[in-house]
Amino acid sequence: MNASSVLSLVREDLRAFAGYSSARSSALVGDVWLNANESAWANPADPQGSARRYPEPQPEALRARLAALYGCTPEQLLIGRGSDEAIDLLVRALCEPGRDAVLVTPPVFGMYAVCARLQNAPLLEVPLVDSDTGLNADIDAIIATALSGKAKLVFLCTPSNPAGSSIALSDIERVATALRGRAVVVVDEAYGEYAEQPSAVTLLDRYDNLAVLRTLSKAHALAAARIGSLIAAPELIQLLRRCQAPYPVPAPCSALALAALEPAALTTTAARVAEVKAERARLQQALQNAPGVRRVYASQGNYLLVRFNDAQRAFDALLATGVVVRDQRAAPQLGDALRITVGSPAENDRVLQVLTAGRAAA
Ligand SMILES: *Cc1c(COP(=O)(O)O)cnc(C)c1O
Repeated sequence: MNASSVLSLVREDLRAFAGYSSARSSALVGDVWLNANESAWANPADPQGSARRYPEPQPEALRARLAALYGCTPEQLLIGRGSDEAIDLLVRALCEPGRDAVLVTPPVFGMYAVCARLQNAPLLEVPLVDSDTGLNADIDAIIATALSGKAKLVFLCTPSNPAGSSIALSDIERVATALRGRAVVVVDEAYGEYAEQPSAVTLLDRYDNLAVLRTLSKAHALAAARIGSLIAAPELIQLLRRCQAPYPVPAPCSALALAALEPAALTTTAARVAEVKAERARLQQALQNAPGVRRVYASQGNYLLVRFNDAQRAFDALLATGVVVRDQRAAPQLGDALRITVGSPAENDRVLQVLTAGRAAA
């Protein structure tokens, strides 16, 4: 592994980019801080003055905790405003507009394509393949299309949203090996907590063109705090940090995230994940036998993708009782499908009351 090889994938015009030099990033020492035009007094709404100063660009305590949680070093981890920001940063820093492509596997999370579009990066689509085992990534086609289409970024979503399938680590390794020196393979593990297989973070030491996305938005129940992590080679993390906003992590959000990573909170989170997995199995079983349901895909996430004889009717029947699910019918291959998030047992009962009563059957 060669330390310079992943940086060779970064836009040439950005390789030496220094970014914004913030007041907090300089190594000055003092006790009267008059260098950032902050107020000398606390706001009445913030009597402790905890939000008076600009925050640390990458709060060190939080970075250390997240790194321990995900099994990497702090130098390998960038904290962003949700993993959404990391996706945007990767596309902006790696893709030369009009030239370097982004590869996605539809039907899949829409932000990859949105960021590619904003950067005017060509979009390569390698559809998931439907089979008895689920809607799965086509590894050979991903490699072939990435090479022929000059992809700079390949997004592998595992567990995949909305399909629910996961990609074996050996297949991720196959893609990373084939694209070494040509593309960064981004493994989006937004739902990793609900999956049976280990994180691709375990592969990072062997593949410098691999990056992993994690988030506190889903299993950790902090979607509004916007704390996502990108885990990758330290030199890529440093480069992306220079492309990021000067103060991307609001202090109240990092305080909330730190509290959520205390042992007691993590124990509760783990118990909730176990409950979701049990409910996912119950819901899948019951829906499979419900009238009007064509297929329920096995899922490694906290949601189920369900095909209906009449998806509109199922959607309307649920909505009539106040249950809102995600209509997937505009997504490729999913013209008859809804995505149902696994909720609390009582919420899931509400779903089953509607769908197993036959009110949604066509
Ligand atoms: C929800 C989701 C995200 C976004 O996570 P944030 O950290 O909240 O930005 C990323 N990827 C996938 C696949 C998701 O479903």
